[in-house]
Amino acid sequence: SEGKGGVSIFTPAMHQAARERMHLVSELRRALAADQLEAFYQPIVDLRTDRVAGAEALVRWRHPERGLLAPDAFLDAAEEGGLMVELGRWMLGNVVGQVGRWTRELELPENFRVHVNISPSELRHGDLAAFATRLLQEQGVEGWRLTLEITESLLVTRGDVVDRNMEALRAIGIPLEIDDFGTGYSSISYLQSLPAENAKIDRSLTQGLLVEDQQRQFVSAILDLIHTAGMGAVAEGVEERGQADLLRSLRCEYAQGYYFSRPVPAETMREYLTGARQL
Ligand code: C2E
Ligand code: CA
Ligand code: CA
Repeated sequence: SEGKGGVSIFTPAMHQAARERMHLVSELRRALAADQLEAFYQPIVDLRTDRVAGAEALVRWRHPERGLLAPDAFLDAAEEGGLMVELGRWMLGNVVGQVGRWTRELELPENFRVHVNISPSELRHGDLAAFATRLLQEQGVEGWRLTLEITESLLVTRGDVVDRNMEALRAIGIPLEIDDFGTGYSSISYLQSLPAENAKIDRSLTQGLLVEDQQRQFVSAILDLIHTAGMGAVAEGVEERGQADLLRSLRCEYAQGYYFSRPVPAETMREYLTGARQL
């Protein structure tokens, strides 16, 4: 019963689904301990130079029986099982370690930075900035080598802890980026006050670019808005050359997508960075 006149039904199928979810959560807990997670990297290209300007780190799970799993298969379970903060810390630790090795061993492109997705739970948890500071110090990595991607939806409902975390992250020099920009939560009024360096245009917007003229004008207006707010723009989900060309002509600074490269393991990303592999 959901109180006054409300009733919800619990079916055997729901019971089954709940059991599977619980199984997944305990498997994931073990996977975190057993180092079965892995960071993949998708190059981010500077459209003005056609060079690699950065990479987005995306979590994968090397499941012993089911093979390589994408986040869709386990992030909901992580959220439900209260494992998001731990997963996010594992990712950040892994990525900062990787960036440290790349910085020492390679000549990285100037301004190269790695973008990491931060879940709302991590930002609502008290001490993300303190955790990040320690990691950066341990690995000898400067804050600007990272960018933390934060979803637009979080920014609209942000509270004191989120604000303090964002301020503290900025204070240690880690840039922030608004992820999934244009997916429906936008509030123009908060754009001006936001401490973000870039905004990432969601692929739902990028993908209609060549098909409809109206979509092109819409993306153009969004780019103007981002630029007026003093931010740079990244477009995700670029799958065709025509989309990249159009985005460049609309003065979008950065792009990523299958047209340039799929997300790849760290060793392959390294080849992009050394020039052993071309985009
Ligand atoms: P996102 O942040 O919007 O990341 C972009 C997603 O689009 C990635 O999916 C990427 O593989 C995919 N993608 C990239 N280029 C293209 C393209 O040209 N076409 C199409 N159709 N797709 C493209 P992925 O890796 O499956 O990640 C899904 C979502 O999971 C991410 O969406 C992000 O919200 C979340 N996620 C991934 N890694 C992490 C993480 O370490 N922490 C947190 N909190 N979330 C993560
Ligand atoms: Ca992202
Ligand atoms: Ca997106």
